[in-house]
Amino acid sequence: MKTEVQQLEQIVRRVMNEIILKQTNKPNSFGVFEEMEDAIEAAWSAQKELVKYNLEVRSKFISALRNACRENVELLSKMAYEETGMGRYEDKIKKNILVIEKTPGVEDLKSEVFSGDDGLTLIELSPYGLIGAITPTTNPSETIICNAIGMIAAGNAVVFSPHPSAKETSLKTVQIINEAIVSAGGPNNLVTTVKEPTLEKAEIMMKHKKINLLVATGGPGVVKAVLSSGKKAIGAGAGNPPAVVDETADIEKAAKDIIDGCSFDNNLPCIAEKEVIVVDVVADYLIFNMKKNNAYEIKDIKLLEKLEKLILNEHGYPHKDFIGKNADYILKRVGIDCSPEVRAIIVEVQKSHPFVQKELMMPVLPIVRVKDISEAIKVAVEVEHGFKHTAIMHSKNIDRLTALAKEIQTTIFVKNGPSYAGIGVGGEGYTTFTIAGPTGEGLTSAKTFTRKRRCVLVGGFSIK
Ligand code: NAD
Repeated sequence: MKTEVQQLEQIVRRVMNEIILKQTNKPNSFGVFEEMEDAIEAAWSAQKELVKYNLEVRSKFISALRNACRENVELLSKMAYEETGMGRYEDKIKKNILVIEKTPGVEDLKSEVFSGDDGLTLIELSPYGLIGAITPTTNPSETIICNAIGMIAAGNAVVFSPHPSAKETSLKTVQIINEAIVSAGGPNNLVTTVKEPTLEKAEIMMKHKKINLLVATGGPGVVKAVLSSGKKAIGAGAGNPPAVVDETADIEKAAKDIIDGCSFDNNLPCIAEKEVIVVDVVADYLIFNMKKNNAYEIKDIKLLEKLEKLILNEHGYPHKDFIGKNADYILKRVGIDCSPEVRAIIVEVQKSHPFVQKELMMPVLPIVRVKDISEAIKVAVEVEHGFKHTAIMHSKNIDRLTALAKEIQTTIFVKNGPSYAGIGVGGEGYTTFTIAGPTGEGLTSAKTFTRKRRCVLVGGFSIK
């Protein structure tokens, strides 16, 4: 009987929503507000509606969200590519499909049980309520889709504070998600944002009393900001993933994997190989094989200086204009005309070089030659800077693989594959675009966005 009433309510809501959809012909009206306070209030009310539905219905909203994003993958990828001027359109399509298909939904919420003479105790995963999520420019739609799936599956609503440079893509993603949920009979504004995102508006969100949890995906600045907010916060920060290669590795495969991983979306992903540390005896053969896999090597010292001047700013950090640009574009700017087939620029340098020390986020891959595996492990730990993000190693020696994993303490450790295997592409496991190293939640999913609550029934239901 209860289900019939629920079904009827849903039909009425769907019809009403269809009427609203027809009347509201404004492209950005679903979840997009002028003021941050209004975005927060609307999402807060929507969450109260969401928790009235059972998990089966919540799951239907998530399916509708996935379907709508799937239908708009090309649009969102094109928008992100054109708006940010970074990355590769075809890789953005792959990244969006990945989050749509492989981000866990309500099935991720598993309860714990204790049962015995004193009865039955459940540990249930309950929503926080309203989450404030800050998203990066490097994966704008991907992070919003991924966060929305996990956060809504867990019973929350979410207010997004996107990067201003990816505003249009982010707003469109929020709108598509809301439209999909409304069309499936759910509440409008489960995800909201502001028309003009700014740091001031992000500040308002971080301080607002109705926000119960903050989730930041970005560089060190934003992670520090949420951790200083006084609220519960999850921080997914910067990485500088080293790829270590020793003499036991399959060098031909290692070279291909490293170039594939480092050039994916022009090195924008935080997990992508940012430097290679290779033992001397196999270094030349690795470089030879990288070149066979569309890498261009710069050996000339004058050319290297030219490249440094071009892609680093006066403070030694990567120049904004070259972040996420194609390798052939960067090469042309230093006077080398090459085919667009070239995916990465490789250059042998010392470990102290800024290309090694800084997260470049462009397909320029520095290579550091070391005498043996002990030195390789030492250098890898040093250049990862304790971010606890991602490391990659190519080796057939289990003791060495274990040694680096223990020393480097990264959230993701990929062995004998490209970095993206660590987020479920050609590697087992679900995906996420919010990898919380600094705060320790790891690869976030629906259960990350829940509070653990204990529910105790005394003296019953023990039937062992
Ligand atoms: P960014 O740090 O410049 O911006 C990220 C977001 O934080 C944006 O929305 C920005 O507006 C906001 N922001 C920045 N400083 C803030 C402050 N003080 N207060 C409030 N909001 C603030 O990063 P980006 O260039 O957009 O993204 C690239 C960086 O993000 C890289 O360092 C990359 O490694 C990292 N990243 C990490 C993950 C992860 O899962 N760990 C995922 C993607 C990107």
